[in-house]
Amino acid sequence: MTERVIALVDAGRHQPLPPPVPQVAGPARDRLGRVLRDLRISVTDRCNFRCVYCMPKEVFGKDYPYLAHDQLLSFEEIARLAQVFVDQGIEKIRLTGGEPLLRRNIEHLVEMLAAIKLPDGRSVELTLTTNGSLLAKKARALRDAGLHRVTVSLDALDDPTFMAMNDADFPVAKVLAGIAAADAAGLAPVKINMVVKRGVNEHSILPMARRFKGSGHVLRFIEFMDVGATNGWRMDDVIPSSEIIRLIGAQLPLEPVDRNYPGEVAERWRYRDGSGEIGVISSVTQAFCRSCTRARISTEGMLYTCLFATSGYDFRALLRGGKSDAEIRAAIAAVWAARADRYSEIRTAQTARERKIEMSYIGG
Ligand code: SAM
Ligand code: SF4
Ligand code: SF4
Repeated sequence: MTERVIALVDAGRHQPLPPPVPQVAGPARDRLGRVLRDLRISVTDRCNFRCVYCMPKEVFGKDYPYLAHDQLLSFEEIARLAQVFVDQGIEKIRLTGGEPLLRRNIEHLVEMLAAIKLPDGRSVELTLTTNGSLLAKKARALRDAGLHRVTVSLDALDDPTFMAMNDADFPVAKVLAGIAAADAAGLAPVKINMVVKRGVNEHSILPMARRFKGSGHVLRFIEFMDVGATNGWRMDDVIPSSEIIRLIGAQLPLEPVDRNYPGEVAERWRYRDGSGEIGVISSVTQAFCRSCTRARISTEGMLYTCLFATSGYDFRALLRGGKSDAEIRAAIAAVWAARADRYSEIRTAQTARERKIEMSYIGG
């Protein structure tokens, strides 16, 4: 183990719950007036990739202290917590990780979550983000279990570049097969996330745009972020979304499209010839904190109100400590009412170096 290794158990340090707040009618609002709508749940801190921007090999080596099974929330605990969040206003749930398809019987969890109804009787919107490596095998079962859509991460179309990014010798063809299987199973439209890192995969921007133009899938370019404490982020490595739009638009003319709903993170563009759309997620150059409606549950049941948090609230202790649903709901309301996060708006070279929670643990 090198001295740069940061044990997740320590990195996931928690803080006391804020004082209770009176229950209000309507959605919970934080200190900046933002409602609580989306919940991301990390179901494992493990992954079969070692993406250089997320779980670099020199840190996440074979001695890395991953969480033990009894430290993870069980499916029953996740489903119970999800139901309480839905009672508190959540309408969308995204399963993530780590690599969520590595969690054994994940389709069973999907089935449990798909049964959750919103107060008005609609089903909760249920999606999952995956690296695609196991998707060809699992897409049908996930769909049958009630999953609505998937987002697949893919950073390049040629093996040398993709393998340099995933650092696990994983070939592009298998991810493309996963995307095709998801499409065939009805998990469409598939969103495809490409993290762009200057000097590493920028030459893949146009080939990726061409490959997915007209496919019905939506390719989204993500600015490389300073998540966690281990990816060696520098502003010079970020390719601003505006540059990506200029680059693609010069070859394949684009026009802007309105967001689907307030709080949507991707800015949408469509091809002028009507052959589909792309998105850009400008977390670094155009922060969207003002409309951020997301809460995150880590693999071991800590609640984080920002991707760049330095500490969370221990909801596993509440679940395992005999608290009632009403008490857990009140705790969620108190945490959300105290929330004032807007990290991307105030990011500096200094904050980028601060010790934050790893994305593989908190969930992307
Ligand atoms: N393993 C799954 C996957 O890769 O899709 C789910 C978890 S992953 C942490 C979720 C998303 O975060 C992926 O689309 C990934 O590309 C993105 N991501 C990870 N590290 C990032 C970084 N430093 N900057 C921007 N996006 C990042
Ligand atoms: Fe694994 Fe996803 Fe992180 Fe890549 S981005 S290392 S696939 S968790
Ligand atoms: Fe939301 Fe935090 Fe990201 Fe801002 S930095 S958009 S508050 S997760």
